[in-house]
Amino acid sequence: MLKRMVTMTAAVALVAGLAWAQPAPPQAPAKVTAIKAGRLIDPETGTASANQVILIEGEKIKEVGPAVKIPPGAEVIDLSKLTVLPGFVDAHTHMGITYKEEPESNQYYLTYVMEGSPLRAIQAASNGVQMLSSGFTVVRDVGNNALYVDTALRQAIEQGWLPGPTVIPSGPMIGSTGGQYWPPPEMYKYHNIMYPEYIDANSPEEIVRAVRENMLFGAKTIKLCIDCKPWGYSVDDIKLVIREAKACNCKVEGHVQTPEGAQRAIDAGIDIIGHGRALTPEHHKQMAAKGIFLAGTDTPFTAWRGSAESFKITAEKLRSAYDNKVPLTFSTDMDYWNDRMKKADGRWMSRGEITITFIDTWKDAKIPPADILKALTITGYKAAGVYDERGPIKPGMFADLVAVEGDPLANIDAVRTVSFVMKNGMVFKKDGVMTPEQFFHPGPVKGWRRR
Ligand SMILES: [Zn+2]
Repeated sequence: MLKRMVTMTAAVALVAGLAWAQPAPPQAPAKVTAIKAGRLIDPETGTASANQVILIEGEKIKEVGPAVKIPPGAEVIDLSKLTVLPGFVDAHTHMGITYKEEPESNQYYLTYVMEGSPLRAIQAASNGVQMLSSGFTVVRDVGNNALYVDTALRQAIEQGWLPGPTVIPSGPMIGSTGGQYWPPPEMYKYHNIMYPEYIDANSPEEIVRAVRENMLFGAKTIKLCIDCKPWGYSVDDIKLVIREAKACNCKVEGHVQTPEGAQRAIDAGIDIIGHGRALTPEHHKQMAAKGIFLAGTDTPFTAWRGSAESFKITAEKLRSAYDNKVPLTFSTDMDYWNDRMKKADGRWMSRGEITITFIDTWKDAKIPPADILKALTITGYKAAGVYDERGPIKPGMFADLVAVEGDPLANIDAVRTVSFVMKNGMVFKKDGVMTPEQFFHPGPVKGWRRR
């Protein structure tokens, strides 16, 4: 009888979804780390303070100041010869795609056909490590990521499988018929070539379904193709997306490539406009008034990409946005590779090193270093929706920070080479060398529910 009752109790507990009562494992006291910063930059104010101590307990910052008492037993990290600043944000990138001159002739439509989600997920994991090594602790990963490679990457990093930035994934870009493709009828109708790179959504019902699917599969932002096709999305369509996306607290980014599309996105009150090329000074003024972020994806002219003429326009557009006080994020669209991406000594550049070259455009637009730093950090955190929990080097925040030689407030080129990286209070890079051991685990040590 007793046995039967025990069995029944067990069944009831299972049905009710109750966890078996188990004593919580004894928690080791959180590790305490003290960083001695020779110079500490606050990009919010564009100022620096000398000889600061940052006290970190576990994953978070506990205290910051010149006279913080370092408790006995704390690990002391001496960065007194370096400048410490918050980690960087790429507010528009694509971690799970790398299109190439060979074999795709830079046609990223072909990458979808030739490389499946598993390979692209592994590329994304590698790109995450490379980005973190260059100081990028947050990335907005906005589409063209095969079958939810982006949300899987976020989940794997959050659960503790491997190091990487905090990923703000969008899932597949939502677009009206065709997305960014112009597929032939047989590929579109019989082979469903659009999916998973794009979700076709035309009617209000389809739009709602698409947004909810992305949220279900882990999206933390929603990416919309505003005007990839002449039929595009109306102001009402965009408003519907914004309304649905509120359920996941997701900001909505619109891919914009025409002035008309830009106007519709602005009228609908979108959160972020992706790509700055179609925007006029009038658009910039309206964006500033409404607080709409710009992720301009401002490609510099380099040995591996771009042209002088195109670069000139890009820098002029960025300057106009700056002059009109648009909230500017650092953003790149960095999702390609070719064999000219090498350093002077012949070694390959990493995805992170290529990404940071985009400051060339900001320099050419004559934007002061303090404002470039703000775009690279504070405005990026805000656009990513993480500003309340990570980014600023303040008590209560996750300890994500980097250190560089020199003073980026005087010479922004200092951010090109990051010698120290901390993510969630753990050292990822020190003295210019990656030390990622603490980030690799054989299971979801931070909890399998984390996504
Ligand atoms: Zn893009």
